[in-house]
Amino acid sequence: GDEARLTLDNLADRASDLVEPTLRLGVTGLSRAGKTVFIASLVHNLLHRGRLPMFEAMRSGRLSAAKLEEQPDDSIPRFEYERHIEKLVNDRIWPESTRAISELRLTLEFESASRWSRWFSRGKIAIDIVDYPGEWLLDLPLLGQDYETFSRETEARARKGLREPLAQEWLKFAETLDPEAPADESTIRKLHQTFADYLKACKADEHSLSTLPPGRFLMPGDLEGSPALTFAPLPGLPEGPHKKGSLAGLMARRYEAYKTVVVKPFFRHHFARLDRQIVLVDTLQALSRGPEAVEDLERALSDVLACFRPGRNSWLSALVRRRIDRVLIAATKADHLHHESHDRLEKLTRKLVEDAAHSIGDKGAGFEVMALASVRATREATVESGTSILPVIVGTPINGEKIGSETFDGTRKTAIFPGDLPANPDAFFRHLRKGGALTQSLADINAVRFRPPEIGSADDHETLSIPHIRLDRALQFLIGDRLA
Ligand code: GDP
Repeated sequence: GDEARLTLDNLADRASDLVEPTLRLGVTGLSRAGKTVFIASLVHNLLHRGRLPMFEAMRSGRLSAAKLEEQPDDSIPRFEYERHIEKLVNDRIWPESTRAISELRLTLEFESASRWSRWFSRGKIAIDIVDYPGEWLLDLPLLGQDYETFSRETEARARKGLREPLAQEWLKFAETLDPEAPADESTIRKLHQTFADYLKACKADEHSLSTLPPGRFLMPGDLEGSPALTFAPLPGLPEGPHKKGSLAGLMARRYEAYKTVVVKPFFRHHFARLDRQIVLVDTLQALSRGPEAVEDLERALSDVLACFRPGRNSWLSALVRRRIDRVLIAATKADHLHHESHDRLEKLTRKLVEDAAHSIGDKGAGFEVMALASVRATREATVESGTSILPVIVGTPINGEKIGSETFDGTRKTAIFPGDLPANPDAFFRHLRKGGALTQSLADINAVRFRPPEIGSADDHETLSIPHIRLDRALQFLIGDRLA
């Protein structure tokens, strides 16, 4: 059974680790957080010897080779590196985002830092990069919940704040149904569809909410349309047991199936094999959308981070044996800010994950928070305005972006004032929790999206690699010690 499979996976990993040292690096984050762009840029910078001064093996010249190799897992799709790079570098458009799990093997050869080990051999390590939707991690709490509890919690959340109007169609339709009456498939489909549409509406750009389980309803992978995914919570549902063949009975059964055939296998076969993890977070997006988006992101992150401390969750510790020993929370798209705000972004993100981080820290797992841009689409400049000199960022807004009455066509550079982040995260979060409003300056962040940069252009003549912010620090934290 699964138990045996778990042991076999781990044995196989260990055996291959003896032949060739391997590190499995998980890359996750909620959709649009920047996973695809992160992996593409990271790999490109390693293959093309980009500017990575804080990555020690690169700086000291010990990294002798980096190449892509066949990934070892035949049943997992390969991360489409070449296609993504083609778009990013040649076409200067953003690649397609992560929809499901994928994997890429990058092999690094290096000289050992210590004379002692250089005497024996040159080092070689395979980095297996595993990309998967962060939404899937939000399913962990479901493992400890029965269908009635899941229905109750989902309904309670749906009746508050921003969510309420978005949930109307699902709630209204559900009210017309008798949970104990026999169910037909077209009713079930409609119930599922109205519920899934509600989740999608919460996720849409203008709201940018984050805590939206079940995770596969937004990111179905290859399971779209299967019965295990075609269910929905029922509001106002009394405790079971429910009549056999009734709507409630069927929904409860499919909910359990979802946990058994979707959630648990993911944790067992994929999550359980990771050694290191980066969690990408679009803090800026949530900040620019307002208090509810921020609060919701905080809740989602604490659910995500709970996955990295299996000791606290008996469901998880039964599924996961190996321990992820380093977790990096990275706030992405820092190129939307002036560099003076990068540290502020880091501090705000740290505050956002503080409670969850505490629990991980207690267990001794290495845990770090950073702000980065996988791809720097802007450069900094200043403009004179009267007597003062103001910082701006310059980039090419993508086709169709608007600033005021001006619409861009994707060919013209422009300078904009980057929004400003609050300097004191504690005061800022207190303000938000008291129902305080956002400053205009915050709402202005992310007001316009830029095209990927031109590579090897006059702006960047010193490098032919993808420009970034702090990617090298992230790399050092995630794998640096394994190249010592
Ligand atoms: P995924 O859903 O996590 O795979 O997200 P993607 O990697 O596809 O990123 C989503 C979008 O965020 C991209 O299409 C870009 O518009 C934007 N983005 C991601 N990373 C960066 C970055 O480093 N800088 C900028 N300016 N935009 C980024």
